[in-house]
Amino acid sequence: MFKLRGHHLFCLLGYQGMGYSRDYVENMTQLHQTLRDQPETWIQLIEGPDQLCAKYPNSGEYHCHDQHITARDHVILEKLGLIIGQMIKWKDIEASIRNNVVPSDIQTVCETCSWRSYGVCEEGIQNILEGKGLRKVQ
Ligand code: SF4
Repeated sequence: MFKLRGHHLFCLLGYQGMGYSRDYVENMTQLHQTLRDQPETWIQLIEGPDQLCAKYPNSGEYHCHDQHITARDHVILEKLGLIIGQMIKWKDIEASIRNNVVPSDIQTVCETCSWRSYGVCEEGIQNILEGKGLRKVQ
């Protein structure tokens, strides 16, 4: 079982092995691969910093408590019809994405994110809509 905050449900869709540091990437790749291989994995939705934030490097400006990031968590959970504290399998999160999200949502929900312009998160949503699941990280 993993504990995740709302906006990381979207970040996982676009993940291609890029991240803030080697530690951060290793941790996220492991989580991503588990969800890809075992979509039955349980997720608990939590408020604030989660186990991906735990590997955010000390060298950078720590943004994981920022209000606008928390606001993004709430918008994404609301869009998916999910609530903080809920336990849900990853495959059911994907089902909710298929029913409630379109790729262009990234442009508004993630407006201030520096990764948005790469376009990978929109591609990740499109993959879910097409039933392809999480992409393989090279
Ligand atoms: S644009 Fe940023 S916050 Fe939004 S899903 Fe991508 S990496 Fe995550």
